[in-house]
Amino acid sequence: MSRTILRGRVLTFLDEPQAIDDSASYRYIEDGAITIEHGRIVAVGDYVPEAGADVIDHRPHLILPGFIDMHLHYVQSQVIASYAGSLLEWLNTYTFVEEQKFSRQGHAGVVASAFYDELIRNGTTTAVAYCSSHPASVDAYFAEAAKRNMLMVGGKVMMDRNAPEALCDTPQSGYDDSKMLIERWHGRGRALYAISPRFAITSTPAQLEASRALVAEYPDCYVQTHLSENDAEITSSMELYPGSPDYTGIYEDYGLLGPKTLLGHCIHLNHRETKVLAETGAVAVFCPTSNLFLGSGLFDRERLAQHGVRIGVATDIGGGTSYSMLRTLDEGYKVLQLRGQRLNPFTSFYMATLGNARALSLEGTIGAIAPGNAADLVVLDAAATPAMALRMATASTLAEELFLLQTMGDDRAIAEVYVAGARSKSTLGGL
Ligand SMILES: [Zn+2]
Repeated sequence: MSRTILRGRVLTFLDEPQAIDDSASYRYIEDGAITIEHGRIVAVGDYVPEAGADVIDHRPHLILPGFIDMHLHYVQSQVIASYAGSLLEWLNTYTFVEEQKFSRQGHAGVVASAFYDELIRNGTTTAVAYCSSHPASVDAYFAEAAKRNMLMVGGKVMMDRNAPEALCDTPQSGYDDSKMLIERWHGRGRALYAISPRFAITSTPAQLEASRALVAEYPDCYVQTHLSENDAEITSSMELYPGSPDYTGIYEDYGLLGPKTLLGHCIHLNHRETKVLAETGAVAVFCPTSNLFLGSGLFDRERLAQHGVRIGVATDIGGGTSYSMLRTLDEGYKVLQLRGQRLNPFTSFYMATLGNARALSLEGTIGAIAPGNAADLVVLDAAATPAMALRMATASTLAEELFLLQTMGDDRAIAEVYVAGARSKSTLGGL
């Protein structure tokens, strides 16, 4: 029987930390042991020597649940760092041009492979991605995830207007292709499907109607789209849907809001919209590096949380500028600083692990180091660079270490990654 014990400093969250000293919200084991069998965690506790056990010693590093990225576009891996003034210019000048390449034979496979290497390099073991409008991009995405045994969520972008002809589907073909892909992939291995109308600007009412039909037929699937990222986008959306009360109201009118709905950005929501998100259980996804890069605005975490809106955090590659959830948490901290809101490091790391698992309704499967969960883990080295080691020498608390990791860390601070119990960072390239 394959049985492995990981030894190290173990940190996992039990609930959302309410303050920096809320020690009831997490479990920390100074000399911990995580026992893994057949890709699952079977025990967590203090390390006790065991004759004949296969022990991998990660001391003095921290072992956390693998990071979860709630929103990104794998087909934009070659769009990152494109020089644009704002969202709509960025989409038209770079993104819609790049996504057309996914009609080429073989292109999706090459990009998917490089994309997954980057996720692993950065400690991300689950992500929720948009593919392009081409079904082959979805096949490449899930096939590569299956090869690596990763729990991934994703779907074919549906868009039938306001984009180059070569990227547009039709309400019928978008529906048919999505249905075929759901039947092919949803629930196969660790794959989970997200019905993915890009956003209101690029979907006609007939396409949102087709999306509603898919949601009704496949209530288990996620729905992902973009909401309220940028002022020009909001104005344009309201011109296209003059009968809806506001941007959120468009998706509401087509029955697209529910607890499995993931809404990228949600920056400029009015009071009614905030209430609707809270009532429907839809998730607002905070994408700080993207929001800063495209100058979209500052996410109001406190206001949404006070109204009871569920919140996730994500990179939004390629509007986002880094695959690293550490870089993302750092920029998230800064966005909230500008809002006069203070995000403590325990809450940051909760958001990237158990918080995002809860936002995906996957608590009990991923996001925590607990018996029964998948052994998807990240090993963090807070002294990974000379500058980090220098600063770490003066850190004496776990809070300081976590804050240092998110403020100074990147892929170099990811010492190892486990996917379903298999070492995955140190073996990169061996696939
Ligand atoms: Zn996006």
